[in-house]
Amino acid sequence: MTVSQLAKSIAESPTLKLTEEARLLREKGEAVIHLGAGEPKNRAPISAILSSAAKLNTGDVKYTPTDGTPSLKKAIIKYTEENYDRVVAPENVIVSAGAKQSVFNLLYSILNPQDEVIILAPYWVSYPEMVRMVYGVPVIVKPEDGGFYPRMEDVLKAVSSYTKAIIVNSPNNPSGVMYPEEFIAQIIEFCEKKGIYVIMDDIYHKLVFDGKKWPSCYQYTKKDVESSHVIVVNGISKLYGMTGFRIGWTIANRNLVTVMTNVQGQITTTASVVLQAAAEGALTGLQSHVEMLRLTLENNRNVMMQELQSFSGIKTTKPDGTYYCLPDFRAYSNDSVKLSQMLLKKALVVAVPGKEFGMEGYLRLSYAGTIKEITEGVARIKWALDPNSPNEIYIGDRKLVRDWL
Ligand code: PMP
Repeated sequence: MTVSQLAKSIAESPTLKLTEEARLLREKGEAVIHLGAGEPKNRAPISAILSSAAKLNTGDVKYTPTDGTPSLKKAIIKYTEENYDRVVAPENVIVSAGAKQSVFNLLYSILNPQDEVIILAPYWVSYPEMVRMVYGVPVIVKPEDGGFYPRMEDVLKAVSSYTKAIIVNSPNNPSGVMYPEEFIAQIIEFCEKKGIYVIMDDIYHKLVFDGKKWPSCYQYTKKDVESSHVIVVNGISKLYGMTGFRIGWTIANRNLVTVMTNVQGQITTTASVVLQAAAEGALTGLQSHVEMLRLTLENNRNVMMQELQSFSGIKTTKPDGTYYCLPDFRAYSNDSVKLSQMLLKKALVVAVPGKEFGMEGYLRLSYAGTIKEITEGVARIKWALDPNSPNEIYIGDRKLVRDWL
């Protein structure tokens, strides 16, 4: 069997791979704790369930317009007005099968071969691979101080005549930090001047803690949506914990949306009408669901921080939002892939290697699960790594003895 060089070079999604490994271990009866997952335990909002069930019950489940049902687009326009303080037209909105597809369609639609996309480390695993999948070149900008906040001067150093876009994901997966407003303002001002696209991946924008306020990108541009290079990607996966419903969207100028619609029309036709109905239900229903999820995550984040504090040698930056934190495990290993494999094997805990996010020596831990998973998961990691912790632990009713430190 031959496959293309490019396809062969695309890495498997490490998070999906670890999830599958954890599933197989659980199937064998192993008590695996998943601190790798980017999804909470909540049920979908009732308004989403009823809306999709009602659509299904009609039996009238057909194609929709490629860019999404008019009623879902209307809900997205209202959402954009309420949360971004920006009025956009239906022609500025395209619905896709998840924000992942939104980002891919977008990159496919704007990049020529060899065009460069600036990606700020730590970054979401899929950005570099997606850029490469459309023959672009990912240019990674890593803060020199090893922190999680990109500096404008480092971004400027990375800009070349091939720079087509920069991806900004704040609050950030995997670090959980929210970039300072000043940084976002500088990036947008610079890119608007240079005609470089700023892709705002806002998928975690309402899941922010400590009373902090997430700022809408549009306040930093004087241009209207038709002439602006600011593009917004968002979706329901993280906002409502509706990861399995696979609906995301893009807000951009109408020419770009037309091109993206042509591209999507040739690949997927449209996102499923049943799932679009669910997204519409979520967006138009009671929004207390989001606040409940946010509060749960904030509490979980606090528990996670507390547990990590008692772990010798671990350095952690407190997340401002999202489902994740990215502690520095270099006191124990500089090889995060090996460390993650060891933790899964010995302690039955899933933690995603920082290497996949451009931060070798770190592990991404999710606090989207239950408090029990967080406390037990960190206790197991501590047991496996920290010589100061007791060398025996119970996993279920099995006693494990550490014999490797
Ligand atoms: N962007 C970021 C930063 C993400 O973390 C994710 C999901 N993990 C996505 C986009 C994709 O979301 P969706 O489920 O809507 O495809």
